[in-house]
Amino acid sequence: MSDKPAKRFASFAIAIPLYRIFDYAIEPGKSGAAGSRYRLPFGQGYKTGLLLEEHDSTSVPGDRIKAAGECLDDEPVLSEHMISLARWIANYYLQPLGEVLFQCLPGYLRGSKAAKPDRVKYWQAKSIDAGLRDKIERRSPRQFELLVAIERSEAGLNAVQLKAINQGWHGLIRALEKKDAIKWGWLTPTRIDHSDAKIPDLTAEQEQSYSQIKSRSDRFSVHLLDGITGSGKTEVYFRLIQDALSRKQQVIYLVPEIGLTSQLVDRVRKRFGEQFTISHSALTERQRYHAWDRFRRGDAGIMLGTRSSLFSQNDRLGLIVIDEEHDHSYKQEDGIRYHARDVAIKRAQMLDIPILLGSATPSLESLNNCAREHYFYYQLSQRPTGFAPPRIQLIDSRNLQLDCGCSPALLQRIDHHLGQKGQVLLYLNRRGFAPVVMCHECGWQASCAHCDSRLTLHQFLNRLLCHHCGYAQALPGRCGECGNPDIKHYGIGTEQLEQGLKKRFPDYPVLRIDRDVIASRDDLDQRLATLRQGKPCLLIGTQMIAKGHDYPGITMSAILDTDQALFSASYRASERLVQTAFQVSGRSGRGDLQGEAYLQTSFSDHPLMQSIANQSYREIARSITRERKMLGFPPYARVVMFRADALSLDQAIEKLNQIKQCLQASVARHRVKCIGPIPALMTRRIGRYRGQLCLLSQDIRELRNVLREAMPEIELIKSTAAVKWVVDVDALDL
Ligand code: ADP
Ligand code: ZN
Ligand code: ZN
Repeated sequence: MSDKPAKRFASFAIAIPLYRIFDYAIEPGKSGAAGSRYRLPFGQGYKTGLLLEEHDSTSVPGDRIKAAGECLDDEPVLSEHMISLARWIANYYLQPLGEVLFQCLPGYLRGSKAAKPDRVKYWQAKSIDAGLRDKIERRSPRQFELLVAIERSEAGLNAVQLKAINQGWHGLIRALEKKDAIKWGWLTPTRIDHSDAKIPDLTAEQEQSYSQIKSRSDRFSVHLLDGITGSGKTEVYFRLIQDALSRKQQVIYLVPEIGLTSQLVDRVRKRFGEQFTISHSALTERQRYHAWDRFRRGDAGIMLGTRSSLFSQNDRLGLIVIDEEHDHSYKQEDGIRYHARDVAIKRAQMLDIPILLGSATPSLESLNNCAREHYFYYQLSQRPTGFAPPRIQLIDSRNLQLDCGCSPALLQRIDHHLGQKGQVLLYLNRRGFAPVVMCHECGWQASCAHCDSRLTLHQFLNRLLCHHCGYAQALPGRCGECGNPDIKHYGIGTEQLEQGLKKRFPDYPVLRIDRDVIASRDDLDQRLATLRQGKPCLLIGTQMIAKGHDYPGITMSAILDTDQALFSASYRASERLVQTAFQVSGRSGRGDLQGEAYLQTSFSDHPLMQSIANQSYREIARSITRERKMLGFPPYARVVMFRADALSLDQAIEKLNQIKQCLQASVARHRVKCIGPIPALMTRRIGRYRGQLCLLSQDIRELRNVLREAMPEIELIKSTAAVKWVVDVDALDL
């Protein structure tokens, strides 16, 4: 170090929505390494910045360059690899580097809080002479009780454990410390490498995919495990995770937000002891930081978590697993826009490690990548139990009198399954009591004051709610237009379904699972625990119940009211409907009984409904993919969407026109279509008007060329609170 010339400047990234980095002067010899946080004077105040690199010179004039403040970290909080990954994300997703870098850090470290390791204070016994021991035993029996407990423990006891023995532990411990009978220290949570799990022998199909993936585990390779629900994909993940741990490597294991129930956590714990750590949005920032820190220090071998856990760092990452890879929760739609699956693949490539994607309903993108031999493809077509997942049977409800949303035929099937001691799952992806409240005299509908949306009746709350912005109002006594007191509601939500089924099947518990009744993961776990007891019951829920659960008692599942997907303006609606249908139907028949699955529809002769009833997911996926090819839509095209929102539609459209101007010349030179600007599908949302401008091309390179040419100019267009614009690369919808 000493013979190199001292560098005097450094560039820093700051978490602000500007596409640039900032130079500061640094004191030679006193700087931390790249990836360390600094306190930087910025504008009138201070901001936290991340050091990117040091230089001998800067283009900032000498009288304008400011000196960086203190370094906040003893060691860098972002590794060089993470900085490279962030640079790739910023470049590919056209997001400001500063914002991306801070997104890669746990929320706890995005400000100036010190990176403190997760330490627990614990007390251990000292060797004391028999006289002192005797004295404590005779004079202070409560102190003695704690002392004995501490002596018996191997690693010492922490506050929680001591409190369990005696509520007043604090004073007693102080007294024991004074007598020099015990000492305290810091304990970093240690790994307990035990496993009492029975490891099943793999089926022939599992064995085949496992051994092939294993044979490529020393290099970058993308593997798609396409296995029907309950076919044992998780078991294949576990084998590969175990292999990585045995090689002293670490693993990131991503699941969708709602997939992280205690059922999966228990399963992972049974198999891997305490070698894993968990991170998801229900934890506090501090808890997530500790999970991140444990993983970084190698204290946990597995990071099990949702989308942003992908940014966990360590030096020995050997495998990434992405369960339910088709799930839309992997796409972040606000702040930094990225797709966790695609970033994960890039990360695996940079580290030259394998990545495993799994799903019963793989995304068309991933299937297409398999067809083009970019990914390795494996199929699990059978359940280890030997029972096939049920075929989906259609129940036509057109022109029928429905009872709480169910046709007579459906009610009859529910009755039958409950009578056979089965559990029945009903999927209805609509919260509340009724989605439409209207006056039949004049046609007035209750709608949101801030969004272009209808209000949903929530009977229990006696309120009308907007599901987009949370706006709530009391149920009006009469029509808002003509004063007619006879206001009616139409359609059915989970609240109404629950009430109806409770009346209809009074002898069975009805469990409802949706955002209105489930406030936390614990609530969800509690309700699911009832299910696990296996007694006959009805389970009603929104998408929270569609995925990832494995309850052997469910013998029948039914899907209600998905017909709006047949007429949706989104080109992805049919793909989503099919995925939901196969995921929900796959929840039944996982145990030792053949399951049944129903889909109730008013359009049973619609070609898509016919396909769902008669074809496999793979066959349907193939035909949807063919349609997309004809239309020139993803996965055969790439989409970049510019979105703007403002207090008036004109302002939003004007901003997009400004962006369009920057694009026009290069769009004309390349095979790229520019569509818009047009108002977004739901134009007014949370009081703001939204517009969009879309770039579409069959050739990603052409699209990248346009962006490379135009972005420098576009990046200069100010995004303000009044008129905000963002760019969304690989946007899911058009
Ligand atoms: P998926 O992840 O494909 O939904 P799981 O891995 O959860 O499937 O497996 C479904 C059920 O089958 C689980 O209860 C699991 O313990 C069991 N299972 C998986 N593989 C085997 C096997 N090889 N032999 C016996 N049971 C298995
Ligand atoms: Zn609203
Ligand atoms: Zn009216």
